[in-house]
Amino acid sequence: MKRAIVMGGSYAGLFAARVLSEHAEDVVVLEPDVIGDDGLGRRTPQRHQLHALLSMGHTQLERWFPGVTDELVKGGALLGEGDDVRFYLDGRLKAPVRGARMLGATRPFLESHLRRRVAAVDNVRFSRAQATGLVFRDGRVVGVNTAAPDGETVGDPVGKAVGAEVGETLDADFVVDAMGRNSPLDDWLLRHGWDPAPVDRMRIDLGYATALFHRGDELGSTVIAHSSPGPASDYQPTLTEPGALAAVEGERWSVVLAGYADHRPGSDREEFLRRMRRCVAPIRTVADRSEMIGDVRTYRFVESRRRVHSRLSRFPGGLVVVGDALAGVNPIYGQGLTLSALAANALGAHLRSHPSPRDPAWGYFRLAEAVVDGAWQLSTTADLVQPHVTGPYPRGYRVQKWVADRLTEASVRDSAVNARYMGVVNMELPPKALTDPRFLARAALVLLGR
Ligand SMILES: Cc1cc2nc3c(=O)[nH]c(=O)nc-3n(C[C@H](O)[C@H](O)[C@H](O)COP(=O)(O)OP(=O)(O)OC[C@H]3O[C@@H](n4cnc5c(N)ncnc54)[C@H](O)[C@@H]3O)c2cc1C
Repeated sequence: MKRAIVMGGSYAGLFAARVLSEHAEDVVVLEPDVIGDDGLGRRTPQRHQLHALLSMGHTQLERWFPGVTDELVKGGALLGEGDDVRFYLDGRLKAPVRGARMLGATRPFLESHLRRRVAAVDNVRFSRAQATGLVFRDGRVVGVNTAAPDGETVGDPVGKAVGAEVGETLDADFVVDAMGRNSPLDDWLLRHGWDPAPVDRMRIDLGYATALFHRGDELGSTVIAHSSPGPASDYQPTLTEPGALAAVEGERWSVVLAGYADHRPGSDREEFLRRMRRCVAPIRTVADRSEMIGDVRTYRFVESRRRVHSRLSRFPGGLVVVGDALAGVNPIYGQGLTLSALAANALGAHLRSHPSPRDPAWGYFRLAEAVVDGAWQLSTTADLVQPHVTGPYPRGYRVQKWVADRLTEASVRDSAVNARYMGVVNMELPPKALTDPRFLARAALVLLGR
């Protein structure tokens, strides 16, 4: 390909650009936000929230950006191993998993390293512009209309700094929508007579709040502590508050609290500290012994959503969708960054099969949707335990929940059961790994106390 354009230069866009750099002579990333050293863009307020990277996401990070973990750790991020990574359920510490590893870093810090790595690739360039529409010809996308970022005009001092092509239409052989949850792609497709992909939704009404704290030696070598309600509390915050902390760069703790519907956390500092004191021991300790830095930042996540392109009978060639624009699921399960990376893998696999640019990228969508489907099943089935979540229920839900409750309980008690359970949570194994008869037999023996 001569030119590929990635619309959106956040996590999913960076992975897509890295993959495309192996398939196109010129890769242009259009990103309207100034993403400063703090890595915070105006259009992505979720960057303030604690972001955990699942182990599959970490593997993909190293695959596409070898050595980045070392760079992050040199810059102050932490790599938690073994007992440094602690998961609690209903206040009980889960059985340890051999080989567990998790990175402690803020999302802006992680992303700024990726951006530097992508910017260093010879045939990738960034343009500070927003995509405003697509150009279609003969059933495929052949270009992207660009404009100066909202509120800025081409020609003014800010506009001039944004890039030579702003306000132009850029020709493209291949275009990636990485514009996040609020991508305008559906409108653009409709305007040109194409149907947008059908959307699956589940309303969950989740609230998030994150605050940073100075980090000393309050918790020894702990890097991650994560606590969630489980079967013993009927998944309600009655035994402990759900929350997590991560040791991050800059000698800080990042602490997140979460709650559904009326139990959404607010931005009041004192209330945040009070709520931390109802969490598991590591989070309580930070509330008591560390000083909060700055404000509590909140975020409301109304619904999980995925677009299913394989249900369409026609779609333009030369166009794919990645990251949150494709699927954004309940962030509590930490799947978003990993899904973005896995969509990039799917894109790489699709492009290596030498598809015709005229054809819709069905091969890509099939691969990407298979991955999304695993994450969607896991998160939406888990969310149905909340009384305010009203469906849709999958077939056999009651039986599934009964089994899942027992497996969850066994995963607290037994390392081997927990290793497989966490393998699914970390997206290294598909959900069906939990239905293997030998695994179920082991979980049964654990529950019977044998
Ligand atoms: C509260 C919360 C907590 C989360 N926690 C986790 C977690 O712990 N672990 C995890 O893995 N995931 C987590 N996620 C999910 C994660 O944030 C997303 O999956 C991830 O940001 C998706 O990246 P993206 O690049 O697709 O979209 P985004 O990060 O939203 O970026 C979209 C980009 O597109 C750009 N853009 C928008 N419009 C245009 C345009 N017209 N032209 C060009 N560019 C445009 C924007 O400026 C932005 O940079 C969380 C999400 C939320 C909401």
